[in-house]
Amino acid sequence: MVDIAKFYMKFAAEESCGACTPCRAGVVQLVGILEKITNGEGTMEDLKTLKELAYDVKDASLCGLGQTAANPVLSTLEYFHDEYLAHVRDHRCPAGVCQKLVVH
Ligand code: SF4
Repeated sequence: MVDIAKFYMKFAAEESCGACTPCRAGVVQLVGILEKITNGEGTMEDLKTLKELAYDVKDASLCGLGQTAANPVLSTLEYFHDEYLAHVRDHRCPAGVCQKLVVH
C-alpha cells in the first residue's frame, strides 16, 4: 500500500499543471517522503510530515486534481498504518514489493 500511494503521487506530480504551489511542490514532496520510506530510510517524523503535508495539499490546492491528489496517502495512512510502521520501524516491506527492504 505504501508503494501504491507512491505510484499515485508520481502520477499526480506528472499531471499537475503547476499553477499553484501546494499541488506543484507539495505532491513532489510527498513523492520524496514516500521514496524515503520505501527505501527503508523513513522515520516516524516522516509519517507525521506525510500526513500534515497531504492535508495541506488537499486544503490549499486550487482545483480538483490537487484537492484529491493526496487521498491515496491519507487513505493508506488511515487503513494500512501497520504497513507504514513496518517500513519505518521494522525496515520491512510486508508485501515484498520494496526491493531495498526485501530480505534475500
Ligand atoms: S491543484 Fe489544479 S491548478 Fe493547482 S497545480 Fe494542481 S492541477 Fe494545477
